[in-house]
Amino acid sequence: MSQPESYEVFAVKFGSWPERRRHNNFIMADPHDGPGQLDFYVWACVNDKRTVVVDLGFDRKEAEARGRKIDRLPHEGLAMLNIDPAKVGHVVISHMHWDHVGTQDAFPNALFHVQDLEMEFVTGRLMNDYFFRRPFTLEHVQAMIRRIYAGRVRFHDGEGEVVPGISVHHIGGHTLGMQSVRVLTRRGWVVLASDASHTYENFEQTQPFPTVINVADMVAGYKKLVRLAETPKHVIPGHDPLVLKRYPAPRAGLEGIIARLDVAPNA
Ligand SMILES: [Zn+2]
Repeated sequence: MSQPESYEVFAVKFGSWPERRRHNNFIMADPHDGPGQLDFYVWACVNDKRTVVVDLGFDRKEAEARGRKIDRLPHEGLAMLNIDPAKVGHVVISHMHWDHVGTQDAFPNALFHVQDLEMEFVTGRLMNDYFFRRPFTLEHVQAMIRRIYAGRVRFHDGEGEVVPGISVHHIGGHTLGMQSVRVLTRRGWVVLASDASHTYENFEQTQPFPTVINVADMVAGYKKLVRLAETPKHVIPGHDPLVLKRYPAPRAGLEGIIARLDVAPNA
């Protein structure tokens, strides 16, 4: 590994799923069912040398097909941070689900980072079954295969460096090749869990999420996220609306849209 560099880190909300209930987010039955809104995010790690984007969300066509709400395209959210998608050099794909890998063409010059197991998963025998293939979109998989054939994908097997100060870490459970991202910041190591933990409650209370291929691996992943992070407060879940409440906006006017994750959470 090279000498690590430090980054500013941002969560950018581009859509939401307000109709969800709590029982949609936890396997264990909850007698106090209530609202369980999830938000859709992409993330950006920025320093004076480079920008690394984590996940690509989805576009308006996909939103319509899946019946979800989208406020802006992911790259339009990144533009609020003055990030030009054409200048992004690295994109980490946490996993290939439809809500994480849908706007690949907006990042024409990026090298993509995926796990070996995730490509095996989305092109392998399990996709014969609707249960496994339902959260994937064939066109997204095809676009990734085209990118592989263009030599624009770096594969990782478990743990791997993306750029100095940013690494990926395989975490099973949600998909076969799910990976989370560890990034060095001024407050220490922050872990962008993505869907290794959809909400704070999933990993803090060991409450597995229902979209799962292996519950034991998912639970082991909750513990791994905490081990990788400076403290449990440095773990950022993938879909929790609380992220935008716990962390400040990078500047006035971006409240409720973008949160800055390399600074201490609000008291
Ligand atoms: Zn997701």
